[in-house]
Amino acid sequence: MRLRDGARFSTICIHAGQVPDPSTGAIITPIYQTSTYVQDALGQHKGYEYGRTQNPTRGAFEANIAAMEHGTAAFGFASGMAATNAVMTLLDAGDHVVVTDNTYGGTYRLFEQVLRRFQLEFTYVDTSRIDEITAAIRPTTRMLFIETPTNPTLQLTDISAASDAAHRSGVVVAVDNTFASPYVQRPLDLGADLVIHSTTKFLNGHSDSVGGAVVARHADHVERLRFIQNAAGAIIGPMDAWLVLRGTKTLPVRMERHNANALVLAEYLASHPKVARVHYPGLASHPQHDLARRQMRGFGGLVTFELGSLDRARTLLNGLQLVALAESLGGVETLISHPATMTHASVPPDRRVRIGIPDDMVRLSVGIEDVEDLRDDLAQALDRL
Ligand SMILES: *Cc1c(COP(=O)(O)O)cnc(C)c1O
Repeated sequence: MRLRDGARFSTICIHAGQVPDPSTGAIITPIYQTSTYVQDALGQHKGYEYGRTQNPTRGAFEANIAAMEHGTAAFGFASGMAATNAVMTLLDAGDHVVVTDNTYGGTYRLFEQVLRRFQLEFTYVDTSRIDEITAAIRPTTRMLFIETPTNPTLQLTDISAASDAAHRSGVVVAVDNTFASPYVQRPLDLGADLVIHSTTKFLNGHSDSVGGAVVARHADHVERLRFIQNAAGAIIGPMDAWLVLRGTKTLPVRMERHNANALVLAEYLASHPKVARVHYPGLASHPQHDLARRQMRGFGGLVTFELGSLDRARTLLNGLQLVALAESLGGVETLISHPATMTHASVPPDRRVRIGIPDDMVRLSVGIEDVEDLRDDLAQALDRL
């Protein structure tokens, strides 16, 4: 069982980083639930010394995700936020970062309420407009931080064009690829330098683990991130790494169904008289539909829509029976959330309005159930409006 160069994506998902356990032949990498490793003699060990520094299950998780994203190496973290925080510690006090303006609420909170106190500076722009990125770059700008599609408005950034613009000024490009997953888009292939994942979402895919990963392509980033992971210590545990490894084996088949179900529901909602507006990159009405077709493989599992008023949104959310009201996304079960009071509650109201998150907006994370059952549930809840 060895992966040949040029193996295709689904084969990589199932096999990359995983070899049968050398002591037993177990086909699945075990959960190495250990904090330390016995050394043969002073100065002689098997490459494993202490659990924060190395763990075989985490190592398999990292090799698997690095291969999926076509990176040189990946590093596992305790959560998506820990992964983002590790990337920001590549920077020095006084450095400036240009950020997608409606980035994940937790990212905005980390940047504004934690990292600003360490003299990092952030400017938020509409990164779907390359001219806005270029205009925001200063002599101290060291990083462009992109999220595409964005949460929850599903706006896209052209990763290739944005990377070209940033690189012309020597600016490193980091992409939070959580919403798309590497099945749908691979930012390193499009010119980005670093990829961040909350593995909590599509990579794990079963709503039973919290974790994060950073994928790097350049040797200097690989070396520094390895150091940071051990020095700061926000590592993913072996049990969570194992759950994600189980999840990534089925990522391609899950994503195909997420994509297909989401497109059906987006079209259904767009044609429904009680729905004011639908945001989905797969609809011809999406302003960046052409970019979505170029940059993405399928259009992802998230569908956002507006209902006309907060009252109507509340009626819908409380009327759903199969679809669960919950934060998070990317699991096999369909979830719905209310960004203004849930994921984006930490974003000030005036800023929420500016980045296009009205109070009547709801976001579906479309699961892999039978799509007719999802549509029927939405239909009965919309009937109550
Ligand atoms: C969930 C999420 C994060 C944060 O990940 P955690 O695992 O919850 O820490 C970051 N970015 C995006 C786009 C997310 O959806």
